[in-house]
Amino acid sequence: MPSLAENLSSVRSRIAAACRRAGRDPSGVTLVAVTKTVGLEEVRTLRDLGVRDFGENRVQDGLPKALALPEARWHFIGSLQRNKVRKVLSGFHVVHSVDSAELAAQVARVAEEATWHGEVLLEVNVAGEAQKGGIPAAEVEAFVRGLKGLAVSGLMTMAPLDPDPEKARPVFRRLRELQGSLGLRHLSMGMSQDFEVAVEEGATMVRVGTALFEGIDKV
Ligand SMILES: *Cc1c(COP(=O)(O)O)cnc(C)c1O
Repeated sequence: MPSLAENLSSVRSRIAAACRRAGRDPSGVTLVAVTKTVGLEEVRTLRDLGVRDFGENRVQDGLPKALALPEARWHFIGSLQRNKVRKVLSGFHVVHSVDSAELAAQVARVAEEATWHGEVLLEVNVAGEAQKGGIPAAEVEAFVRGLKGLAVSGLMTMAPLDPDPEKARPVFRRLRELQGSLGLRHLSMGMSQDFEVAVEEGATMVRVGTALFEGIDKV
């Protein structure tokens, strides 16, 4: 049975190998450990192994973990309701999933009231999947131009699920083109299935859960 340390070291070397293939510096890729399927014990173990960034997709499960380990950097990666913005900003440092003007306005309002200085990314639905949230790729530039009082630092996407990670490449490439034309710093893309392709295509944050936690003895 692999240990969490072994899984982490394997994910890190796969990121490093993808960086070498792409001629990138690995320090430009942040591993966000998605801890939604595990508890605080695993979070602490990863923290002790040097992981600084953690991702959660639900307020109810994620906020208590974020508040228990406030020295880590917590990323909110799930779909976000306007009435949960205040809670999310109370514990999370990066929000990856702003996908409507109403939500952007609420984040701007609460961030100002709460003097929150975190980072905000826009979620983009590159592949145009009807069942997924996210701003359609064709509308992102207009969306960013229309933003008031909210500084956005990057774009996030989820590629369609497919056993062949190469299928995600055009999706990631499109997100990178948008990031480039908007002059944004961050690209949050790549999950367990496709993070190596995402790194090759320019991801600055990869969000990895399963590849870290599969097969380990949960505490
Ligand atoms: C769960 C989740 C991930 C991690 O997925 P894995 O396949 O377990 O690596 C990444 N991003 C989002 C938005 C998620 O909800």
